[in-house]
Amino acid sequence: MLVIKGGHVVGVGVADVLISDGAIAGIGSFSGSSELSAHGLVVLPGFVDTHRHLVQAPMRGSGADLSLSAFLSDVLPRLVLSSDELRAAVLLGAVEALNAGVTTVLDWGHGSMDVEVEALQESGIRAVYGASPSDVDRFAGTGLVSAAVASFGPALSFEDNVRDISVARSLGLSTTMHVTEPGSVARLADLLGPDLHFVHGNACTDDELRLLASAGCGLTVTPPVESMMGHGSPVYGRFVAAGGKPALGVDVVINSSSDMFEQMRAALWLERLRGFPLSAGSLLRSATIDGARAIGLPSVGSLEVGQRADIVLLSGFSHLPEELLPGGIVSAAGITDVHTVLVDGHIVKRDGVLVHHDLPSLRAAVHGLARKVLA
Ligand SMILES: [Zn+2]
Repeated sequence: MLVIKGGHVVGVGVADVLISDGAIAGIGSFSGSSELSAHGLVVLPGFVDTHRHLVQAPMRGSGADLSLSAFLSDVLPRLVLSSDELRAAVLLGAVEALNAGVTTVLDWGHGSMDVEVEALQESGIRAVYGASPSDVDRFAGTGLVSAAVASFGPALSFEDNVRDISVARSLGLSTTMHVTEPGSVARLADLLGPDLHFVHGNACTDDELRLLASAGCGLTVTPPVESMMGHGSPVYGRFVAAGGKPALGVDVVINSSSDMFEQMRAALWLERLRGFPLSAGSLLRSATIDGARAIGLPSVGSLEVGQRADIVLLSGFSHLPEELLPGGIVSAAGITDVHTVLVDGHIVKRDGVLVHHDLPSLRAAVHGLARKVLA
C-alpha cells in the first residue's frame, strides 16, 4: 500500500491517492505506512503516447530539415543496427519517455521483437509493442508489455493489410497502421472496428473520418512531426468534428520533443490558428484516457478506483483553481515540471530524478550511432 499524500488531483481537488497491488484503490483521505508527499504538486494520469518509433531515439533532433520522403529513402534504410545497438536505442527512447511523464507508449517495432521487448521491459515503461505480423504469434505477453500487430497499412498493399488484420483478430490483438492515401479507409469500411488503430490520416476525407469515428477506431495525430515533414495538415480538429476522440503521438524524436506537452500544444495551436473551437484542457484527454482507449488499454489514462496506478506528479501548477488546471497544463507545462512518475504503482522518477536509469549514460551508450547512420 502506498499513499500519494495531499496532491491536487486533477478533476477532484486536494486528495490522497491510495495504491494497492499496482492499482488505484481509493481517492480521498488515507494514511499508510508508505507515503509519498504530493503537497504543492498536481496529480495527473500518466501520459499515453499512442505512436512512437522508439528506435530512433539516438538520432534525436537530426531530422529538423528532413521531409518524410527523404527520411524514408535516405535515412531509414541505413538504420541497420546490431542487437546491442537496437537494445540501447529502444531503452534510451523508453527512458526518455518515462522522464517526460509518458507511462504508456505504443512502440512501432523495428523488426527484432525479442530484443526490443527486452529493452521495453528493462525500461519499466508500460508498452504496446507493434510487432511484425510475421512473428507476432511468438509474442509471449509479459509484465507491462503487450503486443499489437503493426501493419504497413492499406496504401502499401491492401491485401497484406487485410491479412494482417485477420492475423491480429485471430490472436485477439489490435492492429495499428499508418494511413496516408485518401480512400484507404473507405476501402477498409467493412473491416473497421475498435481494434483498429490508425496513425496520421492527413489525407482522409471528412467522410472517412466519420467512418473511423462511428466504428470506434483509434486515430493518432502527431502534429509536430506531420507539420515538420510534410505529411499534410493534421486532422485533430477535423476528427473531433467528425465525432472522434483523437489520440496523440510523438512519432519520432528526430524532429519532435519526447513529451506529450508539445503534442498537445501543437495540436491546440494549429486548431486555434484555423479557428477551430477547442478548449485547451480537452487536449489532456487525448494525451491520457482517449489515447489509452485508442490503443485498447482502457485500464490506464485516468485516475479512478480500479485503474492501474500510472501517475504523474507535476510541479508548478498547484496555484491554479481546479477549472483552470487542465488548460494551464496544456498551455504551459514542460518536461522540467515532471516531478515524479509511477508506472503500475512503482516509482520510476522521484523529485525530478529517474530512479532506475541515468539518461546521460544511456545517451552516451548510443553516441556514435546517429553519426554512423547520418554519415
Ligand atoms: Zn510512424
